[in-house]
Amino acid sequence: MLKSENDKRLELPDIMESLEKYYMVTRTDGEGLITYANRNFLETSNWTPKRILGKSFWQMFPNDEEGQEQSHAIWSRLSSGKSWFGTTKKTTRHGDPYFVKLVAVPFMDDSETLSSATFLELDVTDDVELREKLQEIAFIDFETGLMSRHRLETLVNEYIESKRHFSFVYITIDHYYTLKDHKTYDSERILIKEFTNRLKRYFQDSPIARVGVGQFALLTPFGDWYIQGFLAFLKEQPIYIEHTALPLSISGGIVRYPEDQQTYTQLITAALAATKEMTDSGGGRIASLSAESHKGLNRRALIDRKLLTALDRRNLQVVYQPQYDVASKSINLYEALVRWEDEELGYVMPDELIPIAEENGQIHAIGAYVIEEAAKLAAEWDKEKRDICVSINSSVREFSKPDMKNTILDILRDTNCPANRIRLEITEKFAFQAEVEQSIIRQMQSLQDAGVQFILDDFGTGYASFRYMQNLPISRVKIDQDFIQSLTTHPKTKQLVEGMIMFCKSMGLTVSAEGVETQEQFDMLIEMGVDAIQGYYIGTPVTQDQITFE
Ligand code: C2E
Ligand code: CA
Ligand code: CA
Repeated sequence: MLKSENDKRLELPDIMESLEKYYMVTRTDGEGLITYANRNFLETSNWTPKRILGKSFWQMFPNDEEGQEQSHAIWSRLSSGKSWFGTTKKTTRHGDPYFVKLVAVPFMDDSETLSSATFLELDVTDDVELREKLQEIAFIDFETGLMSRHRLETLVNEYIESKRHFSFVYITIDHYYTLKDHKTYDSERILIKEFTNRLKRYFQDSPIARVGVGQFALLTPFGDWYIQGFLAFLKEQPIYIEHTALPLSISGGIVRYPEDQQTYTQLITAALAATKEMTDSGGGRIASLSAESHKGLNRRALIDRKLLTALDRRNLQVVYQPQYDVASKSINLYEALVRWEDEELGYVMPDELIPIAEENGQIHAIGAYVIEEAAKLAAEWDKEKRDICVSINSSVREFSKPDMKNTILDILRDTNCPANRIRLEITEKFAFQAEVEQSIIRQMQSLQDAGVQFILDDFGTGYASFRYMQNLPISRVKIDQDFIQSLTTHPKTKQLVEGMIMFCKSMGLTVSAEGVETQEQFDMLIEMGVDAIQGYYIGTPVTQDQITFE
């Protein structure tokens, strides 16, 4: 329909008024920071008008892999000047999920860069939940007619009971959300339908389930070579969307019953892990979990069990890594790092231990132990009139307890440790959650008021390092070791680190670098003006007895 300019002008305010009335409307600037949110949005998301401003677009999405992947896909589409439409999961201020149908519209400036974006959303949570409930009852995925996740579980248990041998295969469409980016809502339906058809045609009599938006699982008596043949089959039978073959790549994992794993939960966990191994190495392959990874999974389960039953302070140990202070040319801080030794498992390093402890709740006991040991040591040094602080890593899970602040202050009092001798290192994951949970920020603030300083660890690895520095009580940042590794070999990294240092300093923050292993890195960082340096070049983590002073 053709319209005069006048008609368009007349209609626009009316349209906006109706949209505001029925839709949730938000707007962000070109950086993704929220500049406007209407009442409908605030009601659903539980944000208050003041607090929402300046929060980021990404914070409105669940803080998991899928949520982050999807929000980044939407944002990158907007950045290239294209609008986005689809159903997506969001999260309220308190972390409760809800579902919306979202239209995202970019506004570009004269130089074709994104200057702002408007988001119109309709809450469809009831529809999604109803659908899931019905699918649960009907045991079927409505969109594809495949089995639902619930039916799959029942069936696997039946197979196990009747002692049938089978391969459990998990298949995921690689980069689903980015792929979706190229398409319209309709083409997404075609993709899923056509993909389902190909699965059914290739795996004929095998039971197939849809377990996620772009994820499937199936049970088959056939071996690896047959299952892997599906990749070639997909190549021969490409999916066409608007007359072009879609560049589709998939990853998958195979786990055998009863050889590899013995229960439904174990099978799906192992199949997921196998699939992740494939996706992480670039995708486009289906393989069984390596023997090593099976061992890894079993080790994880063992650590989990042992932590719950046998966590004993005698098996925990704290080691300390020195940090060199550039101005005074001396060591003025030690970072406390936890170690766990078990008769059967040997030494368990924190990268393995902490995630499991966070999951099963033992992080509270471990954290309290580390703080206590660190505070005792810092108090001893304080008494000896040594000007040395101790820094401690803290997990956001610990601060989810509203009295974490008191736990820390009590320990400091009981050990006679002055608060200004202790620093807490937090990661971006921590910072992200702190921005959403007021109680965490409040606890951080009171600790800071008491004299405890906060360090933003692994600086530069997340999406919003710079924003956190503005919003949270942080006085120091520690540049991540990833940057330091390529500092002397990649000119781009050097520029980046230089920029980070300059910017942080202009914000009045103290900057340290970690993972420094060579003299060359050390010299370069000093030249760039960092305040402190940590890494094997300065010293490896040692036990308290091994620390000496000249
Ligand atoms: P992080 O805080 O980034 O700690 C630095 C890690 O890098 C330590 O590993 C350290 O031993 C290692 N490292 C130090 N200098 C160098 C170097 O020059 N080169 C290389 N390649 N590595 C270096 P670690 O002790 O295995 O700790 C791993 C992570 O576990 C830590 O990363 C920290 O996030 C977490 N963590 C450690 N102890 C605790 C704890 O008591 N509580 C909590 N919540 N997390 C902890
Ligand atoms: Ca650290
Ligand atoms: Ca770090």
